[in-house]
Amino acid sequence: HQRTLSLTRFPVRKNETLQAWDAGDEYLINYCNDLELDPKRPILIMNDSFGALSCWFSNQAPVTSVTDSFVSKQAFIANLENNQLPMINIVDCLSKLPKNPQLVLLKQPKNNRLLSWQLQQLCHLLPADSTIIAAGKVKEIHSSTLKLFEKFLGETKTSLAVKKARLIFCKTNPNLAKPLPRPTQWDVPEHKLTITNHANVFSSDSLDIGGRLFLDFIPQDQKYKDIIDLGCGNGVIGIKAARLNPQANIVCVDESFMATASCRENADLNLENPQQLQVVTANCLDDFPLDSADLVLCNPPFHQQNTVTDHIAWQMFCDAQRVLRQGGDLIVIGNRQLGYHEKLKRVFGNVKLIGQSNKFVVLQSSK
Ligand code: SAM
Repeated sequence: HQRTLSLTRFPVRKNETLQAWDAGDEYLINYCNDLELDPKRPILIMNDSFGALSCWFSNQAPVTSVTDSFVSKQAFIANLENNQLPMINIVDCLSKLPKNPQLVLLKQPKNNRLLSWQLQQLCHLLPADSTIIAAGKVKEIHSSTLKLFEKFLGETKTSLAVKKARLIFCKTNPNLAKPLPRPTQWDVPEHKLTITNHANVFSSDSLDIGGRLFLDFIPQDQKYKDIIDLGCGNGVIGIKAARLNPQANIVCVDESFMATASCRENADLNLENPQQLQVVTANCLDDFPLDSADLVLCNPPFHQQNTVTDHIAWQMFCDAQRVLRQGGDLIVIGNRQLGYHEKLKRVFGNVKLIGQSNKFVVLQSSK
């Protein structure tokens, strides 16, 4: 197949050293080269990273690409446009999927809860003649992963490894179809919160220990009129901030569609005045106006998809500095080994330690 695509990771960084596709993408593309595709019947792509699969198949049949990531969606659109390819249908993981796909290509997500949820979704959807091929890194495909395919979708086989990637072939068994599971729910009794979580939300089994510490350091002050919870996940931090500061407008931001859906549901469930809190799906604070917030609360991510990275935390700190009003505060929680102290000092010129546990530090910088 003599085709060349030019693909970019997102957000675009100067001097990027990582490529925008992986061995699993290459393996799927090479394998599908030998399949006869019907140009009219849909192809379903799940969890594509930056659009390698979405771009490759976009001119072969109607493609729907399912992603939980706003950043991935931006990458799909830009990479399709840059390669002058037809636009595809891009939907989030909670949307209805197209009926009767001929082929499903699924990249193994980092989170097994999301994988289980997607397999159950597919079991309801797929006709018996659909071809389902998943791809993942050899070191991340465990026997427990294959058991999930067997349990929720049907008979499962794997390929040989090529460049540290492996394919998983699965046949749908409609007898395994069950109602989709409800989001998980847990209480934080000391803060009188009940939190529900869609499958791909950070810390969906219980409140993580970092979040628990952070809840004790959310300030209450009349001076805060506009508060942002950046990387809000299920919204636990923003909701607590809203309760402590009823005078403030709260904006909760996350790039995961399942996170922002959970955050909205949690605000409606836990706040007396749910309209006090708005939820936005975005990449960090892209497009937020300058000088528009008094307080940013942030528990940053330390990986993007399967790559451990600090570039998102760095963008979050720089964005917070830009969006805060003079005198505004950024409060950050992080594992003490992540070195956020140094980064905040570089961005704001000041940083103080306001709380800590064995593993975590809570840091504050002011503009
Ligand atoms: N605030 C929640 C808490 O304390 O439980 C979740 C914190 S979790 C460590 C980090 C969150 O950042 C995740 O929900 C993740 O989806 C989100 N995130 C990752 N990359 C992002 C980006 N580029 N823009 C906005 N949010 C992002």
